[in-house]
Amino acid sequence: MPNEFEIIDELRRAVGAAPPGVEVGIGDDTAVLAPSVSDGRTLVTVDLIAEGSHFTIPPATARQIGHKALGVNLSDIAAMAGRPTCAFLAVELPRSRGADFARELFAGVQDLARQFDVTLAGGDTNIWDGPLIVSITLMGEITGGRPVLRSGARPGDWLFVTGSLGGSLASGRHLAVRPRILEAQKLHATVDLHALIDLSDGLSRDLRHITVEQGLGACLAAERIPIHPDVPADLPHDVRLQRALDDGEDFELLFAVSPEDGQRLLDSPPIETPLHWIGTVLPDADRCQLDFANGRRVSLEAGGFEHQF
Ligand code: ADP
Ligand code: MG
Repeated sequence: MPNEFEIIDELRRAVGAAPPGVEVGIGDDTAVLAPSVSDGRTLVTVDLIAEGSHFTIPPATARQIGHKALGVNLSDIAAMAGRPTCAFLAVELPRSRGADFARELFAGVQDLARQFDVTLAGGDTNIWDGPLIVSITLMGEITGGRPVLRSGARPGDWLFVTGSLGGSLASGRHLAVRPRILEAQKLHATVDLHALIDLSDGLSRDLRHITVEQGLGACLAAERIPIHPDVPADLPHDVRLQRALDDGEDFELLFAVSPEDGQRLLDSPPIETPLHWIGTVLPDADRCQLDFANGRRVSLEAGGFEHQF
């Protein structure tokens, strides 16, 4: 079984020559990033996923876990409408799973990194007798002259989501995160995004970050919530809707725009990923409601996933 250093060396060779923005990548005591990577304002995000908490093995494979570890970070960069640049990967590898498992994990990270032009510029590799723990720090640049924050929605704004929601954890879709990096950049270049967030904890919970936490409310149209086909079709409709609202790990975008910009998006969508108008921002602080086509109105509770002690 190769040791930590041989594994790192394999990884370094797999990553290959660093692009101009990364003066020194894997192999020295720290990475050295050239101004083109860290010029102006830099986006930095870190996420950690652990066996037993975020996934179990099986059904998750090493490759899928590597993909997800970078995917969740990419989704955060997307949520700022940013462009990812460099990643740093820290792992605690379970000794019992062996070197091929580590190789597969790194391959999962590298495949997605290549897809989005991300350079793996450093990290830390440990082998132990505990479960798998993977943490990635991802850096990025702002696009369009500014990052798009969670704050900034205004009363009357239209709320949109990309893709469709629900069933991600049960189906295993959460492992195959498709970060909406290009979609967010395209939207940012086309309209004035007032507020933007990625959906990790479920729409009902993440909605509050751009509304309630900003002293605003929201009214969602129940029949407009896009329910993912991963939510079993034989469930009662209300249950399916609840799953779309609460399940989480969708890694779709939720954003607020003016009604004029919202109409432009509906008239000529700038992205191929489906865009759904789902509701409106209300001026009333702390009021989130769900309106049904038949006139029924219910209060929208934050039912999404929450880590608890
Ligand atoms: P140090 O003892 O200085 O932390 P390491 O032996 O841990 O050095 O790492 C050697 C080099 O390999 C460093 O440049 C580090 O960034 C890189 N590295 C180690 N593990 C990883 C990893 N999992 N992914 C990317 N780079 C890594
Ligand atoms: Mg180290």
